[in-house]
Amino acid sequence: MAKLRFDALDQANNRPSVKVEAPGKISEYFGQDVFDLKRMQALLSPDIYKKVKQAINEGLKIDLETADAIASAVKSWAMSKGATHFTHWFQPMTGATAEKHDTFFDYITGLERFKGSELVQQEPDASSFPSGGIRSTFEARGYTAWDPSSPIFVYGVTLCIPTVFVSYTGEALDNKAPLLKAVEAVDQAATRVCQLFDRKVTRVKPFLGCEQEYFVIDKSLYNSRPDLVMAGRTVFGHNPARGQQLDDHYFGSIPPRIYDFMKDFEIELLKLGIPVSTRHNEVAPSQFEVAPAFEEINVATDHNQLLMDVMNKVAERHDLRVLFHEKPFAELNGTGKHNNWSLITNTGVNLFQPSSSARENLVFLVFLVNTIKAVYHYADLLRASIASAGNDHRLGANEAPPAIMSVFIGSQLTAVLDELEKKGNIKLEKGDNMYMKLGIDKIPPIILDNTDRNRTSPFAFTGNKFEFRAVGGSANTAAPMTILNLIVAEQLTQFYNDVQKEIGKGAEKKIAVVNVLRKYIKDSKKVRFEGDGYSDEWVTEAEKRGLTNIKDTPRALDAYLKDVSRKLFKKHKVLNDIELEARNEISWESYIMKIQIESRVMGDLVLNHVIPTAIVYQNKLITNAKGLQELNINNKEILENINKISNYIEVLNRGVHDMVEERKRVNKIADSRERAIAYCDEVKGKYFEKIRYAVDKLELLVDDEDWPLVKYREMLFLR
Ligand code: ADP
Ligand code: MG
Repeated sequence: MAKLRFDALDQANNRPSVKVEAPGKISEYFGQDVFDLKRMQALLSPDIYKKVKQAINEGLKIDLETADAIASAVKSWAMSKGATHFTHWFQPMTGATAEKHDTFFDYITGLERFKGSELVQQEPDASSFPSGGIRSTFEARGYTAWDPSSPIFVYGVTLCIPTVFVSYTGEALDNKAPLLKAVEAVDQAATRVCQLFDRKVTRVKPFLGCEQEYFVIDKSLYNSRPDLVMAGRTVFGHNPARGQQLDDHYFGSIPPRIYDFMKDFEIELLKLGIPVSTRHNEVAPSQFEVAPAFEEINVATDHNQLLMDVMNKVAERHDLRVLFHEKPFAELNGTGKHNNWSLITNTGVNLFQPSSSARENLVFLVFLVNTIKAVYHYADLLRASIASAGNDHRLGANEAPPAIMSVFIGSQLTAVLDELEKKGNIKLEKGDNMYMKLGIDKIPPIILDNTDRNRTSPFAFTGNKFEFRAVGGSANTAAPMTILNLIVAEQLTQFYNDVQKEIGKGAEKKIAVVNVLRKYIKDSKKVRFEGDGYSDEWVTEAEKRGLTNIKDTPRALDAYLKDVSRKLFKKHKVLNDIELEARNEISWESYIMKIQIESRVMGDLVLNHVIPTAIVYQNKLITNAKGLQELNINNKEILENINKISNYIEVLNRGVHDMVEERKRVNKIADSRERAIAYCDEVKGKYFEKIRYAVDKLELLVDDEDWPLVKYREMLFLR
């Protein structure tokens, strides 16, 4: 039985690396597969180009005539790059991306064609995508609509058109549509606030830079682990260095095969206009990170989805597998996707950038404090936005951000906010002096300094942006970014109204702003935490502060359906009741499916691999014990091991049997939320750890020669 494992190890160890040549200087091929503004300007007539640009920048609609002209140009361009098909590329609520390919070739005319109407709208077979009951499958009616704000690209032989996916009755069926609406909401609210200070600001756009962590392992080793193949994570496996740091030298250099893989996917990403610069700062063995430069949030979201896809495809060329799962290996660092987020005005000001000017710093403080307050009030929604079966293993685990939403801002900004909060009488003096008195002109630009960082905070201010670190490695950033922009939009709206009220009471504008800020700083203080977010003390302290710590997905999702949330989504036109309920339905079902798969894989591995192997080894020990006894040699220890193995086998047999019975019972629960909770508490909660513990103990006891599953150290220390 161990033959599979050793064959896989053999293959993995003898694989040559696949050499990669860069096609030239990056500037020569960056964005070569993208139909970007530069290319449009070259290939479209000036008035058509102007219309597209307006559509991109101002969200204006494109008429059919313009669409025809664009379609014709984009088709010729794509065909010159070898494309034969086109697809509307979208992000259904399953989490992945989807596409339905159509050929350019028209059988009637015998020519390649691409019409404006095909560019603008397409009907995918919507019945195969989850809709949470919005439409019954027999009337699967949904369509994809072109989103000109994200550029069209050629991927392989296919022209890909980024789209949103909506039902004919107008409900959003994807991750992108709500994001675009939240972006609009935050634009409106932030612009209004900016205009209190600067009338030239007419637009505020959210930006996103995604640091993507991932593991890489050899394809054969991956394929030899049914748990990785089926569930994306190892359900068993003893960590060779459990409880202790792995040696530093493992992290020093990147194995050549992985280096070639990185180089290869970077080239592919750059061609697609994704501005990556790979980082090699692994935290766990075989774990790496890639970080593109930040971009407008919906482009960055598309790019992150595409990045994962490209990495998966390129990995195949190298006989490697990429893992984006949040916790593929127990006891090792999990996998996250740090969402670096900021708001930037059309005048080029990053609203989270402290400066040396007092006026700009007041604006900075407005956005800083309002974001903190938004996180404080809507912590549960933010928590819900990152909830998934995979992320449950990561949030709250040892080395991961806790499930408590708190904000870190660093000691200098803490001092500034404290001072602002405490200062009693604000006197209006001429010019900017007032702010001098409050100390807000003194925010030193050195808070960009890396030393003032707290890696244990789920939501940290990092110099000129916020970094939402609790987002899972495999997640679509659209969900958490929809919530973040939405709650900040709401908070800024409230801020604007509160300032107007103060002004109504006779306060000068800047004084009014400061008054409201001081109140907000007090109100939201509880969410600020500068200490060690991974410590037990924080869990206790957070509870005292009344901060929630929702540990599992089924319950975290409840936040979406609370009255305050429903109102919030409705007010900013992001999602309506039907859409919210449908989304939760899908999320609960998806959670159930994942736990069910994990539970089945566990059962299969235990019954078909682990127990038979343990018995084989136990029989060897029995023969040995008998032999020793015949020779009158002490066999006490061997008998003890035989006993231990028997006990573990019993635990496993009973555990798997009971877990299967539990599943059968739980499957009968009609309500999907209740069923998800039962899967969480009864199936996963009662059995997963117990079964894993026994299997991992057996891995240590059983002869290495017999053990059927590739071990952690074999998977993770690829040479
Ligand atoms: P680290 O967090 O590892 O120290 P950096 O500070 O260099 O790394 O940035 C990490 C990510 O943050 C990158 O993807 C980068 O593009 C992004 N980033 C930098 N500035 C901004 C910004 N103003 N808005 C959004 N993302 C940003
Ligand atoms: Mg970071």
